[in-house]
Amino acid sequence: MSSLLIRNAALLVTMDEHRRELSDGGVFIRDGFIEQVGPSRELPETADEVLDLRDHIVLPGLVNTHHHFYQTLTRAVPEAQNANLFQWLTTLYPIWARLTPEDICISTQTALAELALSGCSTASDHLYLFPNGSKLDDEIQAASEIGLRLHASRGSMSLGHSQGGLPPDSVVENEQSILNDTQRVIEKYHDPNPGAFVRVVVAPCSPFSVTPELMRQSASLAREYGVHLHTHLAETQDEEVFCLEKFGYRPVAYMDVLNWTGPDVWFAHSVHVNRVEIDLYASSGCGVAHCPSSNMRLASGVAPILQMAAAGVRVGLGVDGSASNDGSHMLGETRQAMLLSRLGASLSGASLSTEKSPPLMTARQALELATRGGAAVLGRSDIGSLEPGKCADLVAINLNRLDYAGALHDPLAAVLLCAPVGVDFNIVGGKFIVKDGQLLTADLPSLVERHNLAARRLLDR
Ligand SMILES: [Zn+2]
Repeated sequence: MSSLLIRNAALLVTMDEHRRELSDGGVFIRDGFIEQVGPSRELPETADEVLDLRDHIVLPGLVNTHHHFYQTLTRAVPEAQNANLFQWLTTLYPIWARLTPEDICISTQTALAELALSGCSTASDHLYLFPNGSKLDDEIQAASEIGLRLHASRGSMSLGHSQGGLPPDSVVENEQSILNDTQRVIEKYHDPNPGAFVRVVVAPCSPFSVTPELMRQSASLAREYGVHLHTHLAETQDEEVFCLEKFGYRPVAYMDVLNWTGPDVWFAHSVHVNRVEIDLYASSGCGVAHCPSSNMRLASGVAPILQMAAAGVRVGLGVDGSASNDGSHMLGETRQAMLLSRLGASLSGASLSTEKSPPLMTARQALELATRGGAAVLGRSDIGSLEPGKCADLVAINLNRLDYAGALHDPLAAVLLCAPVGVDFNIVGGKFIVKDGQLLTADLPSLVERHNLAARRLLDR
């Protein structure tokens, strides 16, 4: 039994059912779970470890619902800097075909280090190519050293160029091997219990890189084991044209005929969805991973996030990438979601100065997407808010800093409206991952050096 008492936080944002924000707040943690949340004076006076967080804002740990850790090795590649999705992919596929198991390990730790330092406590990663003997196991083992919770998607590509797909044949796999390996990693790693650090997700990559048959079989396999399903969907207009020409359906309708809708499914992006498709997401329970930086970087468009949320769709945030962002800054991504939504409201053509104006996403709504929203998208009721019984996943930021000078009349808004910063503390399952602004679970200078060497090897080969 070990306990941790956090007290005297200038502001503690619970994101609980009533969205309570407590001045002079605190949390009492025992064995990785929250036992009490409230004003500091109402909490126990001592614990095995006591952390005084006066001058700090405390938030639930942020939840990242879509990423490709391996892409940290191919950020800012010159030929892929100014391209839309299909051009960007066809430029990078041949480089990714050279990835090794060691590259997967290094890039996993780099991405998770960035995520940890920017406030993330739970990350979902979508690994969909396994060249040169790489395995999902490489990622899961590397992630366990950093200490964040991981939803590891066993992705896949099977529709190579010779079969009418987008990726070159060199990066696609045989469908039976995909299904066998997916079953293997579910049996080996998936933990359905509250407080889980590893869950496995079944995740064929996209409509333009796998066959309908693999989509169907993946859904059956996932449902046999009670694990979740994830893929990219409705990201670009090119994809919509591809689906209409090859399958005769728009992307969302295509998912519906494949039995790929339900509360166990979430889609990355969903930029190009109409009213009927949003209603289908809501009625069937599908979730969405909104990736604003990537959607801007690849000129994909503006996803109608507030409309989805208003319709009752589960929406969370993802940094995507990292070659389409090209960062893994979770707090920064939350700010981008708020700003891009506002741009979308302006582009909708409605006047912003009348009572009928489209609503502008608030800082609190954006933070909700990054916390409760992400938890709902990943199907987790044990994370996303600070409440008794939930996982002790929280971050704290010192408010006394240049970045927030003049903004402390509303510290929560300052965190989203002012420039994104790194967190000073990141506690996951009651354990310190970041303390006093320093990552405790990796030697960063050595990691960055190894990462840069690996990236150079990958591009020079
Ligand atoms: Zn993606």
